[in-house]
Formats: sequence, C-alpha cells, structure tokens
Amino acid sequence: MKSDPRKRLPQQPSDGLKLISYCPLCEKSYNPLRARILDERDGAHLVHIQCAECGSSIVALIMTSSLGVTSVGLITDLTGDDVLRFKDEGKLTADEVLSFHSLLYSNN
Ligand SMILES: [Zn+2]
Repeated sequence: MKSDPRKRLPQQPSDGLKLISYCPLCEKSYNPLRARILDERDGAHLVHIQCAECGSSIVALIMTSSLGVTSVGLITDLTGDDVLRFKDEGKLTADEVLSFHSLLYSNN
C-alpha cells in the first residue's frame, strides 16, 4: 500500500502530537518520565500519561508509519494499571481508542 502524503485524510497530526506533549486540561507540558508504554504492536504504541500538575490522565495511541508519526488520545480517569487490566480483559483495544478519538473529533 503506497499512499500520497498530500492526500492524507483531513486530520491534524500536530494536534495529535500536542496531545502527548501537553496536558489537554491545564496545558502544562508533560514530564516524559511519566509516560508509560502499555502496549506495543505493529509500530503502534499505547501510552498512558498522567499530568503532574492536575493529575488527569490520557491514553494515547502513537502510530509510526511511512507518513511519519501520528497520535490520537483521549482523556481518561483510568490509571495505567486500569488500562492494562481492561486491555487484558478485552475491554479496551486500540480500535476503541481510535473510535473514541473519532467521536471526540466529530464533536468538535
Ligand atoms: Zn494537567
């Protein structure tokens, strides 16, 4: 599959990257040391980050492809351990993170 980067879907990759750089709630920059990789597969990383400032957490899916790095994320009240548990129980999948992301974006 070869795709032209200029024909990418109308999304905003910079927003995705901003999502894992700054807290969406208080806009403090994240401490990368607080990021925790929960899952890794097919070049995609599922990452949990907790904001040191306001304590809110996000779960982000970071995908590396020939087009570069894209990331999607959502605000959650789950801890990294919760996410892992849900994932192991099949309650949370990367697909769900993605569909949740589409939901968020359609609301914007
Ligand atoms: Zn915050």
